[in-house]
Amino acid sequence: MVVSMPSIHTALEHLPSPYETALSQYDRAVQRLDLDDNVKEYMRWPRREFTVNFPVRRDDGRIEMFTGYRVHHSTILGPSKGGIRFSTNVTLDEVRALAMWMTWKCALVNLPFGGAKGGVIVDPKSLSVREKENLTRRYASELIPLISPYADIPAPDMGTGPQEMAWIMDTYSMTVGYSVPAIVTGKPINIGGSQGRTEATGRGVIIVMLEALKRMGRSNPNNTALVIQGFGNVGSHAAAYAYELGFKVVGVSDVDGGIYDANGLNIPKVRDYVAANRTLNGYPGVDHITNSELLTLPCDVLIPAAMEGQLTEDNAPHIHASLIVEGANGPTDTEADDILNDRGILVIPDILANAGGVTVSYFEWVQGLQEFFWDTDEVFRQLERVLIKAYDATASMTEKQGTDMRTAAQMLAIKRVGDALLTRGFYP
Ligand code: NAD
Repeated sequence: MVVSMPSIHTALEHLPSPYETALSQYDRAVQRLDLDDNVKEYMRWPRREFTVNFPVRRDDGRIEMFTGYRVHHSTILGPSKGGIRFSTNVTLDEVRALAMWMTWKCALVNLPFGGAKGGVIVDPKSLSVREKENLTRRYASELIPLISPYADIPAPDMGTGPQEMAWIMDTYSMTVGYSVPAIVTGKPINIGGSQGRTEATGRGVIIVMLEALKRMGRSNPNNTALVIQGFGNVGSHAAAYAYELGFKVVGVSDVDGGIYDANGLNIPKVRDYVAANRTLNGYPGVDHITNSELLTLPCDVLIPAAMEGQLTEDNAPHIHASLIVEGANGPTDTEADDILNDRGILVIPDILANAGGVTVSYFEWVQGLQEFFWDTDEVFRQLERVLIKAYDATASMTEKQGTDMRTAAQMLAIKRVGDALLTRGFYP
């Protein structure tokens, strides 16, 4: 029996279109740049967009149809690079936006990559392990014409992790007839993954936060309260590293809601609880709050690390933090950006704040191609070097232009891609 395609989720309809947000950020940055108009227009467009509808056999024997996407926004600086998202909220519009942000992120941290993103409309929690493996492998095989270690290199994003990357690597390797570890990053260490990749994004968020706090003259972790939205790969590792450094993490949340303790949460215990229960629901001895309450909690630093479109004109006026570090991609819409800037709240933009993930993905790709592997200390040392250099460049541009950090970061990135495009020329 064949069942019809799952209807595209409408829960995000009230949120701003991520691609509109990405384009309005682009337009804001590009108007300040002295760049050829043809180059400005070219870079607004995704290079390729791929949509696929494919079958997966469920455990009860039914065939269910799923829809997936892969967008290559740019391949000017090198092969395109970007994660794969499994979520019911995936849309082509969202994947386009995320691919564009990957282009700017890779350029900002000076990686030899363009930007891409992929996604499948699915609730990964609704699948058994076997169903998830079949879905991942079938989607990967549909991507074969697009991906290669020299063309497009996928990585994890919301709803995917090392296991999904292992299945993609195996599917690709079986198709070409030999093992190709460099086809994906974020894979398990025993098949060529990098030390430190799992923690890299969350750790990078905290490295960038430390740099911002240092420049604000606030270096005492004990006096600094953090709130983190999202307790997945990015949020939980950011929380763990901040806790290790002595910061007070007073609130965290997942899709089911948040928890709050003004005295600071015991993050290792929270992580153990989530590992055992797969939710923060029911965590004992703390206040339970909603995700919208979490965003306006009293704190010094707010780290949105769940998904896009979370900070809007409705909640931006009520945010208490003086520093926002964007762990997620696109968590702040354009109206919220304006309100936060007017209120003097420093926003470290996603393309800088969460660039730790793609930076260590780049290290993993290099290690895979060279078949020469680094230890954790080397990975973290190089990660810090890359992020601090990008922070410095962005801070200088912010000062020089008298603008916000997002616009400055995008200007740096867009200029690098635009200059490379002009050097290469327009084909044919
Ligand atoms: P994940 O799937 O591991 O975790 C997502 C977390 O957000 C989970 O705790 C989930 O319960 C929560 N969440 C989902 N919907 C929510 C909602 N509506 N409200 C509140 N919480 C919600 O995903 P991740 O890899 O941690 O990615 C999180 C964000 O960081 C995404 O925007 C992603 O694009 C971005 N990002 C991830 C990486 C990476 O290396 N994983 C790198 C750069 C950026």
